[in-house]
Amino acid sequence: MGEGFEVLAGPGTNIFNTRSIKTLSREGVTAVLVSTEMTLKQSAALGGDLPRGIFAYGRLPLMLTRACPLNNGKKCADCGGSGALRDRMGIEFPVICEAGCSVVYNSRPVYLGDKKEEIKNMDFLLLYFTTESREEAGLVIKDFSAGVPPRGEFTRGAAYRGVE
Ligand SMILES: [Zn+2]
Repeated sequence: MGEGFEVLAGPGTNIFNTRSIKTLSREGVTAVLVSTEMTLKQSAALGGDLPRGIFAYGRLPLMLTRACPLNNGKKCADCGGSGALRDRMGIEFPVICEAGCSVVYNSRPVYLGDKKEEIKNMDFLLLYFTTESREEAGLVIKDFSAGVPPRGEFTRGAAYRGVE
């Protein structure tokens, strides 16, 4: 791009096929995160020559909104910046508000730390921290590196399910 920085197509760009990777490569993007809706098998089969990574740990964003869900749909004044929504089953979905937008996150983080040998054709793994404290994040990194099974509630995301 010539401006002296590298551009990574991150969460939200939803890279789903080789054509997207090739197009982004031509546009000067230097690395991509593959779609969080793909199975490991699908993402391993992607072509193109850009370094690519997979969302391997973290709460996936479910919804982005301008109206703050913590403040009755009004703006974020006085919402405190973070909280949670609770569904009918009592499951909590963390909400983080920043710069006038609110993001609602999945109740459970994706965790693939014990599945690393099944992740093929990737150049990096993204560990995406949102609500974790510094200590919790440290523990996740340690567990992930050691390849141990997840400690708490977790999801595999689309790794084994995916969009058909
Ligand atoms: Zn808010």
